[in-house]
Formats: sequence, C-alpha cells, structure tokens
Amino acid sequence: MHPEELRRVDNEHVWHPFTQMRAHRDENVPIIESADGYFLKDVNGNTYLDGVSSLWCNVHGHHVPEIDQAIREQLDKVAHSTLLGLASVPSIELAGELVRRAPTGLTKIFYSDSGSTAVEIALKMAFQFHAQKQDSETQPRDLFACMQDSYHGDTIGSVSVGGIPIFHQIFGKLLFESVQIPCPAAFHRPDGYTEAGYLEYCDQELERLIVENHQRLAAFIIEPLVQGAGGMLMHPRGYLKRVRELTARYGIPLIADEVAVGLGRTGTMFACESEAVIPDFLCLAKGITGGYLPLAVTMTTDDIFSAFDAEPDEYKTFFHGHTYTGNSLACAAALATLKLFDTHQTLENVTNNTEILSKRLSELKDHPHVGEVRQQGVMVGIELVEERESNSSFPAEMRMGHQVTLMARKQGVIIRPLGDVVVLMPAPGMPGDLVHQLCDIVFAAIDEAIRLQVA
Ligand SMILES: *Cc1c(COP(=O)(O)O)cnc(C)c1O
Repeated sequence: MHPEELRRVDNEHVWHPFTQMRAHRDENVPIIESADGYFLKDVNGNTYLDGVSSLWCNVHGHHVPEIDQAIREQLDKVAHSTLLGLASVPSIELAGELVRRAPTGLTKIFYSDSGSTAVEIALKMAFQFHAQKQDSETQPRDLFACMQDSYHGDTIGSVSVGGIPIFHQIFGKLLFESVQIPCPAAFHRPDGYTEAGYLEYCDQELERLIVENHQRLAAFIIEPLVQGAGGMLMHPRGYLKRVRELTARYGIPLIADEVAVGLGRTGTMFACESEAVIPDFLCLAKGITGGYLPLAVTMTTDDIFSAFDAEPDEYKTFFHGHTYTGNSLACAAALATLKLFDTHQTLENVTNNTEILSKRLSELKDHPHVGEVRQQGVMVGIELVEERESNSSFPAEMRMGHQVTLMARKQGVIIRPLGDVVVLMPAPGMPGDLVHQLCDIVFAAIDEAIRLQVA
C-alpha cells in the first residue's frame, strides 16, 4: 500500500488504544515501517528517536541482532505449542533464568501475554489461595488494597485495582471492591501540609486501612517505587519496605506489579531489590521480551503454591490459562533479552544514563512553566504548569503535553505524555549521547510549544 492508502485505511478501520479517534484522524501520526537501534522509521522516510521505549517496553533497542537471531532460531524449530498438557524448551529455560535472577523465594512462574493478564492472574491466585487455605467459618478474603492513582492494566480485574478516575470511573459498576491507600508522592500533597506532615499522614492511613481491613484483604497490590501511568509518581525511599512490613505483619500477600519498573528501568533489575523487598507475587510484562513480543509472567512463592498443591479430584487447580501461554518465540526473545543485560552491562548503562538525565533535568529547575520534575532511574516525568509560583495547571483543552509531543515529533523525537506530564523513558540500553539528544530536543519542544500557545 502507498502511504496515502495506509493513512486512509488507518483512519477508517484501525481503532487505536487510549486514543480519541476524532483527534487522531487530523493528526497524521507517523506510520512506522521499520526500526534500527533506538530509531523508528516511517513510511515517508522520516526517522525518529524512540524517546519512550515504544511505550515503556523496549529495552536494548530495535532490530537487535542477538534477539532477532534468537527468534529466528526458535522459528526454525517451532513458533508455538501449548502449555496445557505439554511443556516446551524455551518456557522451561526462561523459568530457570527468571528464578535465578528474581528476589529469592519467587520460585513459581505462570506465563501469560500482557501486563493486565499478569496482574489479573496474581489477583485470582491470591483470592483462590485464601479460599483454599481458609476454613469456612472465617470471613472471605474478597477485598484488595491498591494505591490511589495506580494503574495495573485494562482488563476488568486490573481496572478494579486501578485508581485513575478518568480511565476507571466509567466502569465503576462492573468492578469488584478495593480499598485505596493514599499515594505518598509529593504531587498529591494538599495545601497546608508540610512534606513531613503529609508523609506522616500517608503512613498513618496506610497502617489504619490495613489494620481495619486485614481480615478481608486478599492482597495488597503496588507499583514499586514509581506509579507510572498515574503520572510518574515517585514514592519516598523506604515506602515499599514499610508496605512489606505491614502486609507481612498482618498476613496479607503483596503483589509487586513490576510491569513498567522491572527489567532495569529504575536502576536495579527489579525495583523491589532496591529496598530488599521480597513480594509474594511479582508481575512482569512490557520489557521482558525486550519489547519484541507479547509475554508476561506472574511469579510467586512455594507458600502460595502450596495451597494449590493437591490431588486432581480435590479441585484446587488454578483454572486459568491463555491460548498463547508461554509462547516459544516470545520466551526465546525473553531469554536473549536477559542475556544481553550481562553481555552489554545494561544496568551500568542505566546508572550512567540516570546521571545524565539528572544533570540535564536540573536545567529545568527555574523554568517558568515547569513544575515538579520527577525521576527514578531512566523513568522521568516533567510536569508542565501555567504558572510556576501557584503551581496552576494549563486548561485541559490546551493539551499542553500533547503540543510538546507534536513539537518533539517535528524535530525527530517520539514521546507520549500523561496529560500535562511530559514523559521521558529512554530504553535501558540507550547510549548516553542519544539521551542527551532526547533532552536537547524535548526541552526545546517544551519551550516552543509554550511559546506558540501562551503567546
Ligand atoms: C502497562 C502496565 C500494565 C498493563 O500492561 P499491558 O501489557 O498493557 O496490559 C500493568 N501494570 C503496569 C504498572 C503498567 O505500566
């Protein structure tokens, strides 16, 4: 198809995710045809630096020889076979590799195909775990604790533990019950609170809500360190550890949703490691195949597993599975992705890029239209504000975050904002000079977008 024909069919037939299609039709988004390293190329011959890791999943770049090769070799053997009643070589090898690398004690691997399903599986496992451990006298564990402004995916179960009103409100009646824990990110601090005062309030609420509900809580789910889709909201140091202490004390399984933060993005392979936390469930997706293929993992412990370990006629089986569970091509891509962390010393690269980003972001500290700038590892949120002093937002209809995206695109950089939070998420493997280039272009795009809109 010619570029114009592709555009016509896209506008007519492809319904894009998280997209108001009326605006999309006028926007002529790049139609990507190929990619190499950290650059995407469209059908009109333009190249773009991939500034958000293709929505937070790319790790070592595109068209990576080692990952391409691993998939090709697997393709010459078999693309997919089921894990229902059969096993497969790549899914076994990957399980071994993940158990070796993950926090100690996470010994069981359940495969699926997206972050949403990885979370859905953890929720269902936690629920069934209690149901099978409990005697029928006690209260059922049918309540989940989640963070205010959290995001765990878009299936109904994962939306039930989501806390972002504009995404989740409309589905209210379809959802199961959850209890929301106040988010300790500074962004939420109401007027009149000092930083220390707000953190103390959050800590008290955390403990109060756990104590109050612990007999009904099936699990506590959290995005460790950074609540991504909520706007790159960063938890204060030690918060995750505190959540682990309290959940352990009250016998509540902890689900760490590392779909976004896992695979090196916060500086360690898994975000939980940075606070020496061992969750009861660890969810991985996005980066696990290097951003190549849909694959997700729900890891759990022997203790959780033991409640399912019984004779077939006891019906304690986990009755859940997806057709493409443990897909061989995806597992081969994941194995190659993990290996590259060693051979390319990707975590060292993240450390270097973390430093580059933090230096560059300091250039924005007196910017009249930049509010809070948040960074953890190579995850960055730059909040745009109408007025720095009063921290007031731009009117929503100005779509300032989106205007910055359009300006950056003109200069050859792809980013995607969260409202008026400009997100930078260079892939963990991106070379430092490209991180500088990303900052150069995005900072200029912020100025240019504001100049055009505010003038
Ligand atoms: C993206 C994301 C999900 C959902 O993953 P999908 O593969 O898009 O379903 C879940 N949790 C977190 C923290 C995410 O960032």
